[in-house]
Parts: sequence; C-alpha cells; structure tokens
Amino acid sequence: MQEISFQCSPEEAKDFNFLEDKIKQELNLSRTSNIDFRWKKRSIDARKRNIKINCTFEVEVDTQLPDISYQFEFKDVRNSKEVHIIGAGPAGLFAALHALELGLKPIVFERGKDVRSRRRDLATLNKEGILNPESNYCFGEGGAGTYSDGKLYTRSKKRGDVDRILKMLVHFGANEDILIEAHPHVGTNKLPQIITSIREKIISCGGEIHFEKKLTNIHLNGNEIDRIEINYSETFPIKKLILATGHSARDVFELLHKNNIEIKAKPFALGVRVEHTQELIDQLQYHGRLNDDYLPPAAYNLVTQVDGRGVYSFCMCPGGIIAPCATDSNEVVTNGWSPSKRNNPYSNSGIVVSIFPEDFKGKENDPFVCLDFQKEIEQKCWQAAGKNQKVPAQRLLDFVNKKKSIDFPRSSYQPGIESVEMDSIFPTFVVDRLRQAFKDFDKKMNGFLTNDAVIHAPESRTSSPISVPRDPETFQHIRITNLYPCAEGAGYAGGIVSAAIDGVKCIEKIKGKISAFG
Ligand SMILES: Cc1cc2nc3c(=O)[nH]c(=O)nc-3n(C[C@H](O)[C@H](O)[C@H](O)COP(=O)(O)OP(=O)(O)OC[C@H]3O[C@@H](n4cnc5c(N)ncnc54)[C@H](O)[C@@H]3O)c2cc1C
Repeated sequence: MQEISFQCSPEEAKDFNFLEDKIKQELNLSRTSNIDFRWKKRSIDARKRNIKINCTFEVEVDTQLPDISYQFEFKDVRNSKEVHIIGAGPAGLFAALHALELGLKPIVFERGKDVRSRRRDLATLNKEGILNPESNYCFGEGGAGTYSDGKLYTRSKKRGDVDRILKMLVHFGANEDILIEAHPHVGTNKLPQIITSIREKIISCGGEIHFEKKLTNIHLNGNEIDRIEINYSETFPIKKLILATGHSARDVFELLHKNNIEIKAKPFALGVRVEHTQELIDQLQYHGRLNDDYLPPAAYNLVTQVDGRGVYSFCMCPGGIIAPCATDSNEVVTNGWSPSKRNNPYSNSGIVVSIFPEDFKGKENDPFVCLDFQKEIEQKCWQAAGKNQKVPAQRLLDFVNKKKSIDFPRSSYQPGIESVEMDSIFPTFVVDRLRQAFKDFDKKMNGFLTNDAVIHAPESRTSSPISVPRDPETFQHIRITNLYPCAEGAGYAGGIVSAAIDGVKCIEKIKGKISAFG
C-alpha cells in the first residue's frame, strides 16, 4: 500500500474522477492503470483566499486495499474479577469496554438516567426551564459526552491511543469519516445511539450498568476503601474503584474532602459564550465564500494574551445551539452542541479567561477556592436573569462599550435570555480581559466584533476546578491505594477522547496490579 498527499480545491476534493486521475499522475501511472484508493486524512487550509484541501490517500495498484478492521474482542466476564466504576461518561464507559477486553467485570454506577429517559428531562429543561439535578446535560448515561457536540479532536499526542478510541466509536456506529477528518465530529443527534450500543455490549458480556445509582459515601479501612454507599442506603464491598464522575459532581468533591481524601484546587477557565450567525463566520473564514456545497460550516480557534493571561475560544460549535448545562436549580451554565450536519444558522463558542487559585489571595490553599468562585458566578447569573434557566446576555459591541443592550437578535438558547450587563456579574480582572480579547480577535477575524453577536453568561464548566491527586505511574490516589481518580473530574482529561483514553489507562493499571498480586 502506498500513501500519497497533495492539495486540491474543495470542488476537486469531491470529484472522484479528478482524484483518481490526480493520484495516478502523482504515482506516474498511466490513465488506464488499475488503482484502488481511499481517504486517509483530510483537512482544510483556509488561510488564503484560494482555499485548499490537504488530501492524503492510501492507494493500491492492481489490487484491492485491505479492509480496515473495526473489530474488538470483548470477553464474557460473568465470572471474572470485578472493578467498580462510578460514572458512565466517556471515561467510565471506555474503562468498562476495556475491562471486557482484559477479562475484568465492570460494575458501573451512574447517578443519571439512560439516554432515552434523559432526553425527556432535557426537553423539559429547554422548553419549561425546569432542571432535574440528577438528569441533565452533564449527568446521565454517556455523561456530558452524550448530548455534547461530539467533537473528537484532542491535544493528546499519542496517535495510537486516539485512533483506537475513534475505531471503537466506529465499531459502535460512528461514521468512518471520523478517522479521516483532521477535526472529527459526531453530532448530538448521533451520539445517543452509539452510547446505547456501548451499554448493550457491556451488558451482553456480563458487565453491569446501574442507572439512578449515586455514590453518596465511601467507607475507609486504613488506606483502602472497603465499601461504597449508593443512594444513601445500599452498600457494596469493593476491591478497586474508578472514580470517573466528571467536573460537575460537586458533591463527590465534598464527600472526598469529608473523608479526608486529598483533593486540590486547580486552575480552570471561565467567561461567556458568544453567538454569531454561521453565515458571518463562513464569510470571515472562507474569504466571502457563502452557501458553499464544497466546504463545511466554518470553525475558528482564537487565542490571545491579555495582561499576562490566556483568553481563548473553547468548544466552538459551527451550526450549533447554546445549551443550558447547569446541574443545580439555583444556577445557570452555558455550553454548546451541534447536530452532525451542523446546519443551524448559528455558530457559538466559549470565550474564557484562565483562572488560578492564586487569584484569591489568602485562600490559595483552600481546595474549593476555584469551585466556590465558579459556583458564585453561576448563581449570580441565575439571580440576575430572573431565577429560572434564562441567562444574562449582552450584545457584543455593547459589552465592549459598557452599554446595556435594549434588544437582541434571535438567540439559539432555548430557555431564553435577559439583558444584563456583564460588568455586574464578573470581577474586573475577568471582564477587562474579555473586552480586550474581543478587540484582539477582531484583528485576527475582521468583523468578529459586531453588535449582531450576543454573549451569554456564564461559560464556566470548561474543566474541573479541583483535581484528585494520583500517582503518575500507578494512577492510584496518592494515599488511598484502591482508588483510581479518572479523567475530567479528577483533572486528567479535557474532552471526550482524552477522557476515554484515561478510562482505558485506569483499567490497564488495575489489570496490571491484579495480575501482579492476584
Ligand atoms: C454541551 C456540551 C458539549 C460538549 N462538547 C464537547 C465536544 O464537542 N468535544 C469534547 O471533546 N468534549 C465536549 N464536551 C465535554 C465532554 O463531554 C467532557 O469532557 C467529557 O464528557 C468528560 O468525560 P468524563 O467521563 O470524564 O466525565 P462526564 O462525561 O462528566 O461523566 C461523568 C458521569 O459521572 C456521573 N456521576 C457524577 N457523580 C456521580 C455520583 N456521585 N454517582 C454516580 N455517578 C455520578 C455523571 O452523571 C456523569 O454521567 C461537551 C460537554 C457539554 C456539556
């Protein structure tokens, strides 16, 4: 098999005959020669007016390309050693799948509901502004990943680990394109079915997943957990416990602290979610090309430094929706998702400022210092916008010019928006940096700073404001030897793929320990 790379126009990249001829030409083959080819990687280079597609193909001459295998060997684990996993997000589910591969029996406890029941709670939240604290955009089967945007890119440099997760997603129903695109994306409409297939596999192999089962306490015996308490009533003896509860399970941080299990304050980022029309973003990024059948809805990735601190775009959703992502009824939180086709008329992204424990003088050593700040902002927003799931909003230029907005273009945020000046919500070290950052971004994308864009507040669940320290080699908690703090909630992942990778790694560490000591 040969690999061949070249650039072509977006139109050519969709023209099979052009691609076949071009590959033959690049390989010095005659036009009549017989080749089989398929995409290996695809990315867009839109830096110049003359937009190009970077193409890489796998090619065979005079023979067929071998099939790509998306098969995995999941064992029957009915009578195998048990591993308890708290949380059925990407980390918990991929830990459970890898447990099946390694011959361990995963028993997963998830506080939320299965994807289908969860969908009803999301509809009530969006339409009536009523939040179920146990079943929402963060809690439930598939975790924050299920009704997320499903962007699958990660900063992880370990290509092998990433490819394995992507191939497993294809095995469970994702489109093969995720293996090709430089910025793979699944979409909220497709994720629930994939999550359902994962659950069915885990159960059919003898693993267990229990919904509406919340970890409510931990019983220690020296430096080990010997029992866990579920729903304040049932207790289960455990041998190894993976804690994959995500960055929004504040009660889990509290129960660890109450049991003197070490946790630490961790830097995170916070700000607003800005919404433009997708048409404007396409125009800015694609140099005026509009309604283009050959290019996907455009994305952006912006970063600047203001007063020695990073301000950057986060979780950008082309053709997306701003979603209500709070986990308690006295707070509001925004995030974004998009369907697989990214065909909504809006584009949104978080614009966030890095926050450090040192920002809160005298409290740097309090493990809850960043979380308390995050909570305070979310509650302030809830109060300012009318104590329901509406969020504070301001037109972008009005914000930069410190002016209250009197009306708004349509917002995709379904529960509704209220005109509130962001200066009444955020401390000056945040709003001043946001203002400057929007001006900087306008220099990079001329037209970004427009009064037709609206900022919604807050974007606050970017990463965990607390970490649960673990040994970097063994992944065991620094003191509690059978506790494996995992993925985003513990501070070791940010996003679906890195969370899944961390879940897999935790199981590998556990398997290594079990094999060594029985
Ligand atoms: C709207 C939205 C859009 C997003 N878009 C993207 C994206 O496009 N790409 C991307 O990479 N990331 C995205 N993310 C972030 C991504 O979803 C998370 O990074 C990822 O899900 C983290 O995985 P995790 O398994 O560590 O934790 P989570 O997904 O948070 O899962 C933790 C699970 O633990 C459960 N749990 C918590 N406490 C308990 C308890 N006490 N007992 C039992 N169960 C408990 C929760 O209910 C939850 O199901 C998005 C998130 C949201 C909300």
